[in-house]
Amino acid sequence: MSFDVYGQDNALSVLRGHLRRGETRHAYLFHGAPGTGRRTLALRMAMVLNCLNPPAPDDCCGSCRMCRQIADMRHPDLTVVSTDTPGDILKIDAIRDLQHTLTLTPYEANYRIAILLRFEEANPAAQNALLKTLEEPPERVKLFLTASAESAVLPTVLSRCEPVRVRPMRVGALMAALGEAADGADPDVVRRAAHLSGGRVGFARTLIADSERLEKYEAEANDFLGLFALNTRERFAFAAAFRDTRRRSELRALFQVWETALRDLLLTAAEADEREVPLSFIALRERIRTAAAGKTPEFYRARLEALRRAALNLNANVSPQLALENFLLRL
Ligand SMILES: [Zn+2]
Repeated sequence: MSFDVYGQDNALSVLRGHLRRGETRHAYLFHGAPGTGRRTLALRMAMVLNCLNPPAPDDCCGSCRMCRQIADMRHPDLTVVSTDTPGDILKIDAIRDLQHTLTLTPYEANYRIAILLRFEEANPAAQNALLKTLEEPPERVKLFLTASAESAVLPTVLSRCEPVRVRPMRVGALMAALGEAADGADPDVVRRAAHLSGGRVGFARTLIADSERLEKYEAEANDFLGLFALNTRERFAFAAAFRDTRRRSELRALFQVWETALRDLLLTAAEADEREVPLSFIALRERIRTAAAGKTPEFYRARLEALRRAALNLNANVSPQLALENFLLRL
C-alpha cells in the first residue's frame, strides 16, 4: 500500500532507510504543525513494523488484521497516550501507566507500540518520567512522539529521539493529491479546504469531511472584513456580546480566523505572488481585494500585531470583552 501519506518525501526517506537497513530507532519524534500528518506517519510506522504480510521490509499491506487494527488504533499492543482535549496538561500518572504496560511482553505483535500525541502538553515531571524509558527502552518496544516543534519538548527528551520533521505541503500539490483521492468530494470544497489548511493535509481532510465547518470559518472571515467599517459605538456593542467569560475559548478560535484573514489582507496589500503564497480564504478573494485596495502592508501589519497582543491578553486572563474592545479600537 506504500505509506499512503502525501508530500512527506523527506520524512519517508529517513523512515524507509531505517526500515530497509533494519536500523529503526527506539523512539521517534514527529514534529510539525498540527494537521500535517504526524500521527498518520506514526501509525504507518507501527503498521510496517507489525504487518503480518509485508510486501517489502519498508512497507505494510494495509489490509491484514494487524494493519487494520493499528490503523483504527484498537490493537492491544498499541497504546496511545494524550490529553483528552488539546491544550490540557499531560501528567505523570499517564506516563507511569504507560511504563507499566511497556514492561509486558507484546501480546502478539513484533513490537509493542506507544504513541504519545502532542507531547509538548506533558508537564516537566511527565517528560522527565518518560526519560527513563527513553534511556533504557524495554525489548521490543517502539515509542513515537508527536510535537509542534523540536523545541517544544525538553532537550533531554529530544536528544533520545530521532527527530522527523513533518512539513505542510504546497497548496497546489495538496489540491492535486486530494482531488485524486477524494471520492465524490465537491472540487470547489477541495480547493477551498486545501487553501485554508495552508497545506496541512489532515486539516484539509477534516474540512472536506465537514464542509459546514469550512463555511463557518469563511462566514466568520467575511464578517471580520465588515468590522473595519463599524463606528466606535458599534465596535463596543460587538465586544459587549463577549461579556460572558465563558465565551473565552470561542473568542480565541475567532481570533485565529481573524489572524488568517488579516494575513490574506496583508498579502494582498503587499501584492504577493499568489502562486508562491496562496490566500487562505480563496472563496473571499474578490472581497479581500476590494477591502485591501489602497491600503499599505504596514496598515495590516499593525493590526496583526494588535490582534496578537489581544490574543496574549486573552490567554493571560484579561476578560474577553476587554481584550476584544482593545483590539477593535485599533482596527
Ligand atoms: Zn498488514
